[in-house]
Amino acid sequence: MVEGMSKIEKNIARIRETITKAAAKSGRNTGDVKIMGVTKTVDDERIMEAIACGITIMGENYVQEAKRKIETMGHDLEWHMIGHLQSNKAKYAVRLFDMIHSVDRLGLAKELDKRAKGSGAIMKVLIEVNTGGEETKSGVPQDEAIDLVRAVSRLDNLSVQGLMTMPPWFDSPEDARPYFVKLRDLKNRIVDEAIEGIEMGVLSMGMTDDYGVAVEEGATIVRIGRAIFGERK
Ligand SMILES: *Cc1c(COP(=O)(O)O)cnc(C)c1O
Repeated sequence: MVEGMSKIEKNIARIRETITKAAAKSGRNTGDVKIMGVTKTVDDERIMEAIACGITIMGENYVQEAKRKIETMGHDLEWHMIGHLQSNKAKYAVRLFDMIHSVDRLGLAKELDKRAKGSGAIMKVLIEVNTGGEETKSGVPQDEAIDLVRAVSRLDNLSVQGLMTMPPWFDSPEDARPYFVKLRDLKNRIVDEAIEGIEMGVLSMGMTDDYGVAVEEGATIVRIGRAIFGERK
């Protein structure tokens, strides 16, 4: 590591290296993997530092927290919503975010569509899939995912871009691999269905503890908080 680099700079350099290796291992192009900085609870100064290191996508979990940051830090960045979204926040979410990763039910999709229509926008969305089948996690059950994609594809002001998942938590990142494979297989099945009006280019998967494995299995956006910014309070 180069001397004089800040902590965040070093962290991001290390992540880029890991991604490059993981991509090479599976014959993928590093350029096809984007790093999202997950900024929940992170102060503006550290976010600015990550921006200076070339991070251009930020992920937020809460509408209220995101609103303040987006208003102060501006729109040269992409801001993505990755947290559970209540339908009554759809109006704000559509105004604030460039993409919503957490669409997991038709009711929410319809509300987002209505609000996007109201502001003459097309909202990019990912369908969040609960690949682990955990009760406590958001996400559409895997066996209902294709039906949801089909239903959302009919909403004029939403544009489905791909899928997102958050696997169960494991000590070993290797244990998360089957869930990333599940999401990729599901994506391929959806592509085979040739559903009109959707894209399936985005696989949002992999976090601090397992993004290397996720990249090996096809992630195009990794969502990284602690490995960039340090532990959250
Ligand atoms: C917090 C969060 C992340 C980032 O988690 P880290 O372990 O800090 O990398 C990624 N995705 C979602 C949905 C999150 O809520």
